[in-house]
Parts: sequence; structure tokens; C-alpha cells
Amino acid sequence: MPIYEYQCRSCGRIFEKIQKLNEGEESLTCPYCGGKKPEKVLSGFSSLKGSESASACGSSGGSKRFS
Ligand SMILES: [Zn+2]
Repeated sequence: MPIYEYQCRSCGRIFEKIQKLNEGEESLTCPYCGGKKPEKVLSGFSSLKGSESASACGSSGGSKRFS
């Protein structure tokens, strides 16, 4: 099961929670202060903005046509 990090909106603490399939995020509460609806923190995926999609198909000088 995946483990997500959440940040409490009330006290600002970050805690980890195992995401259960039958348990929505709505029912999550902060273990420190009991604040509801903590914000999900995405850690480890900070570099998802891919930069290698532009130069994939390099067809330079493609103005010639087969005739
Ligand atoms: Zn809290």
C-alpha cells in the first residue's frame, strides 16, 4: 500500500499515512492536533516536469520531398 505524506492545515505538521482503499482522504485527521482534511504532500516527485519531450523526433531539414 502506498504511503502518502500529509501536512496538517491547523498545526502545519507533516505526517505519513498509509492510504487504504476503503478510506478516503476526507476522513483523515492530524495525529497531533486532530485537524481535519490535511493537505497531501508530494515528496520525491519534484522533478516531474519532463524536459525531454521536445527533441524526441528530430526531423531536421525535412523540407525535401520524395519525388
Ligand atoms: Zn495538526
